[in-house]
This record gives sequence, C-alpha cells and structure tokens, in this order.
Amino acid sequence: MPQFDMMLITAAEAGQAERLKSEPGKAALSGAGDLTYRCGACKARLLNTVSHDQICGIVVECGKCGKLNAVPHDHHHHH
Ligand SMILES: [Zn+2]
Repeated sequence: MPQFDMMLITAAEAGQAERLKSEPGKAALSGAGDLTYRCGACKARLLNTVSHDQICGIVVECGKCGKLNAVPHDHHHHH
C-alpha cells in the first residue's frame, strides 16, 4: 500500500482548514482506503489506510512532535 510523507506547514498556512490531531502512537484518522501518510518531521503515522476523498484539504497536528502536516499536492490526484 502506498505510503507518503506529509508536507510540513505553519499555523498561518493551515488557516481555516479542517484540523485533526493525532495522539502519540495513534493515527489521527483511519479509513478503508489504501493510502498511508506519515508526519513530515518525525515519521509518525498520522493517516492510516485512508481514501483520497477522506483527506482532501485536511491538516493534521502530529501528536508526537506537534508539527502541522498537510496532504502533499504531488499526490493529489484526481480520477
Ligand atoms: Zn511528527
């Protein structure tokens, strides 16, 4: 299953985006898809087997290192 590192962003960049927070050792969101995303800083798993539609435009605050992560645009495919 594809695994990607997320893109680190600042609070200002996150703006009004929907924000999820993970707990240490636990993904912020799990789903029935096949995409897994890790924190861009500490590589903790933040999004576990999610589908693309679930994560469109969301920001995840890493529960381990506290950084804000966005879904990288490179992997933002539209089918
Ligand atoms: Zn982290």
